[in-house]
Amino acid sequence: MSAVIRLGYVHIRVTDLEEARNHYSNTLGMEVVAEEPGKLWLKCWDEWDHHSLVLEEGGVGLVKLGYKVESPDDLETFEKRAQNFGASTGRVSAGENLKVGEAVRITLPSEHALELYTDMEFVGTETGSLNPEAWPRHVRGVGTHWIDHALVPCDDPGLMERFFTEALDFRTAERVVESIEQPNVIGSWMSCGESPHDIAFIKGPNEKLHHFAYHLEDWSAILKAGDIFSMDDVPIDIGPTRHGITRGTTIYFFDPSGNRNEVFAGLGYRVQKDFPTINWTVDQLAKGIFYHARELNDAFTSVFT
Ligand code: FE
Repeated sequence: MSAVIRLGYVHIRVTDLEEARNHYSNTLGMEVVAEEPGKLWLKCWDEWDHHSLVLEEGGVGLVKLGYKVESPDDLETFEKRAQNFGASTGRVSAGENLKVGEAVRITLPSEHALELYTDMEFVGTETGSLNPEAWPRHVRGVGTHWIDHALVPCDDPGLMERFFTEALDFRTAERVVESIEQPNVIGSWMSCGESPHDIAFIKGPNEKLHHFAYHLEDWSAILKAGDIFSMDDVPIDIGPTRHGITRGTTIYFFDPSGNRNEVFAGLGYRVQKDFPTINWTVDQLAKGIFYHARELNDAFTSVFT
């Protein structure tokens, strides 16, 4: 059984690398693990692979998403399935991505670049794996635990849901449909493990980024993150609040280049193999996205990078 393990890294563009360094390192608390002119690699304290974020100077938006898979055989399996689906694929040799092994590059039906890989240099979490403390005392700012998921807009969320189901064995935890009678998909939240989503899609322009999210421990960590955003003048898009979809607690905010980030807490439920997909009708979309306000802010459906 082939398996995608998780969203391993997000590679984005930023307009100013030093402003981005300050945001991701001092405000969010990630560690810079490697750098070269125009590029930074960062990891969160609770992640064990070399990095989870690549920042590249020049523009805004998504370069690619990296998902880690279990074995080299998986690369071949998923590559073939993606090709059978009609997606174009290519191979990326080991080391082309810093500290990352061989990868299969897939151009998704939404024109986003997705790279599957099996190996990234192991460095360990900051608390280690022998008699660990609960958290590192030196953690800065928000102290994000790990990069959890990404949400990308696309012209045809139904097609993306089918691709991730058929080619990559993801399961749909929740989706938004036009209506029960007209079940065309407007948004889809999909899982490769047991968390409510590892990737999500919403109707919008291809190739763009809506947000990527960091896992925090709980609601009080979300509240504290909001405090730190005020201290550091981080533009908040919405929150602290709760999502109806996934039941996560959340703040959306922007990095200095305008890329949307999220802090997200709460494993709302577990997506087990027999999980019955939750459907929302589009008339309830606003409640699904922002459970308390029950209305979408303008930015949610119009700001992509
Ligand atoms: Fe999210």
